[in-house]
Amino acid sequence: MSGKRWAGRRRISSPLPSPLSPMFIELTDQLRCPAEHAESFLVLIPDVMEGRQVLRGTLGCPVCHAEYRIDDGVADFGGTAPPGRRAGGSASRPDAGGLLAFLALQGPGGVVGLVGEAARHVGGLAELLPGVHFALVNPPDATVAAAASSVLRAARVPFKARSLRGVVLGQPESGEAHWQADAVRAVLPGLRAVGRGPVPVLEGFELLGAADGWWVGRLA
Ligand SMILES: [Zn+2]
Repeated sequence: MSGKRWAGRRRISSPLPSPLSPMFIELTDQLRCPAEHAESFLVLIPDVMEGRQVLRGTLGCPVCHAEYRIDDGVADFGGTAPPGRRAGGSASRPDAGGLLAFLALQGPGGVVGLVGEAARHVGGLAELLPGVHFALVNPPDATVAAAASSVLRAARVPFKARSLRGVVLGQPESGEAHWQADAVRAVLPGLRAVGRGPVPVLEGFELLGAADGWWVGRLA
């Protein structure tokens, strides 16, 4: 995988473990508490900001009172990502242009979620979709991100229902039914979820197409 270097990376006081940008404060609106209760928003208490990015802070749930830390710009929702991440390999097809065609998006605004291996495509997608923010969930260590991205670590989809302009579900999360279901539900009505591997079995799911081991669909 040859990721594109993001030439415009700003210096930050607390370095991220890899060249990724700190969490965008407005992404808070798309986040939910991942605990097993009815969907709830989260309240952000920032400790250290840089512009509109949060280097350190806490996301608190008003329902279960869980607190999730943001450290080094990365929001950590606890738990562990599913095992079985594949080292390198076959994430090159489709490329960012192919994923954009699957998502069928154009124009600025909103948030697109990239989960697991799919986060590798953030650089290419950010070039093709300026003005869109990318939320990277469990990105591979070698991911090189665009400015317009935030990094989240989570054991389940941390987005509210109907909050994203699109989502791309990569391995290994794409193989798990709860990731599929929550990712499909996180997309705004009429917009698309894209995933690698098995097609979701989910009430109301409309499969729009499948090719090369990927599926494209939405809630009907
Ligand atoms: Zn909660």
